[in-house]
Amino acid sequence: MRYFHSIRWRVQFWYGGLLLLVLAGFGFTALDLQRTNQFTRADRELEQRMGMIASLVHADTNPSASAPGGNPRNPPPNVHNSAPLRLPPQETGLFEGSPGQAFYYIVWRRDGKRTMNSSSAPANVPRPEPSQGHPSFRSRGTLRECFHDTSDGESILIGRDYRAEFDEMHRFAYLLSLVGGAVLLLGLAGGWWISTRALRPVSDISAAAARIADGDLGRRIHTADTGSELGQLAQNLNHTFARLQAGFTRQVQFTADASHELRTPLSVILIQTQSALSRERTTEEYRESLQSCQRAAQRMRSLMENLLMLARLDSTGTAHARETCELEPLVRDVVELMKPLAETRGVHLDMELEPARLCGNPDQLTWIVNNLVGNAIQYNKEGGDVMVNLRMESGGVLLIVSDTGTGIPADDLPHIFERFYRVDKARSNAPDHSGLGLAIVKGIVEEHGGTIDVISEVGKGSTFTVRLPGLQA
Ligand code: ADP
Repeated sequence: MRYFHSIRWRVQFWYGGLLLLVLAGFGFTALDLQRTNQFTRADRELEQRMGMIASLVHADTNPSASAPGGNPRNPPPNVHNSAPLRLPPQETGLFEGSPGQAFYYIVWRRDGKRTMNSSSAPANVPRPEPSQGHPSFRSRGTLRECFHDTSDGESILIGRDYRAEFDEMHRFAYLLSLVGGAVLLLGLAGGWWISTRALRPVSDISAAAARIADGDLGRRIHTADTGSELGQLAQNLNHTFARLQAGFTRQVQFTADASHELRTPLSVILIQTQSALSRERTTEEYRESLQSCQRAAQRMRSLMENLLMLARLDSTGTAHARETCELEPLVRDVVELMKPLAETRGVHLDMELEPARLCGNPDQLTWIVNNLVGNAIQYNKEGGDVMVNLRMESGGVLLIVSDTGTGIPADDLPHIFERFYRVDKARSNAPDHSGLGLAIVKGIVEEHGGTIDVISEVGKGSTFTVRLPGLQA
């Protein structure tokens, strides 16, 4: 039963059956042709002799008729004792030969008595049924006989033992089945070899998949044969496994980072409450403890909001509501709201805005501006500048936020859009800075079909450029 479920066995059965059918068909056709040829040749030989004997018998029973070929009639000696006919000298060889092989003839009279026969004729040959008009044929074992009734009511039979030819045919059949069997075996062995080779990647694939399911994510399918369809499938699966592994690793790292970020404010709350509760405190001390707890809770809330935003961006099925947005007032509002913060930090915040329109989610677009301007103020120095530019360029929206702040080291630049990545952990340890801001900005920009780039020089400042598909006014 197991064999009928295996692809290899099914192919083998089908292929073997088909090959057997073709070989058997070919063998039987070849044998039948050989047999028909043999009989046709034998029947022609018998017919030829029948013609000659018939004319002799006719001449014998009608003395007035002349012998065939103009020869004088040769009266058969002792006709009534089943004596042989006397054949013309040039035809005598026709009924001679080794006992088993020679042609024979027998002539019966109308009353059923044998009148003549050749010396090679067997003793007990049954008289054939009367034949009408033309010679008829019959086979008895290895004997083939032709018989014909003359107009005088005599029956003539010519026959010969074709045992040697039959033996020859048996040898031919034996040879055919031997060659056929060898071809069948060769075909089956070749088919088995090819299917084993072709299906080998399948067992590699299932072994690798089983190992991966067991948790061995680094496992890959061995792909030596990259040209075949299965080899290509294995390569594609390897790519998929690699991406799955990278995704899984990212997920594990993300969970670890998120837990780590939550641990700090949680520890603050625990320590503060423990110390406040350990003994009686003054009102001022209680106030300070509560303020610390509040800051930690704010940090946790901001982190949770960021995580929620990322989760929404990650879930592919969730489409955020889009509408036509006028970006200029949106950016202006955010910058105006940020001005007090910039002032407290001694940073000069300015903007140059032109009308720009796009189709997007206003909350998400606000998040982008908020984050970029917030960072430009946060990572700046006393007396520094922040400039926000907005304009339409070649049908797209261009938002540029540049500052004269600390700048980002070249080694960190490629990583600043990664989740939880912070250039200087100590400096950016403020409640709203968990290293998720730029990752979220990038996610939103990409969701809107745009791009974000940064150029930065340490000590001189950074410029973030966001390009989004725009709408014509
Ligand atoms: P965070 O929320 O901690 O600010 P972000 O993802 O927004 O995280 O930024 C990642 C890191 O990139 C920050 O830790 C900071 O070091 C650096 N960074 C972002 N914006 C600027 C900027 N305008 N100037 C200098 N450094 C910046």
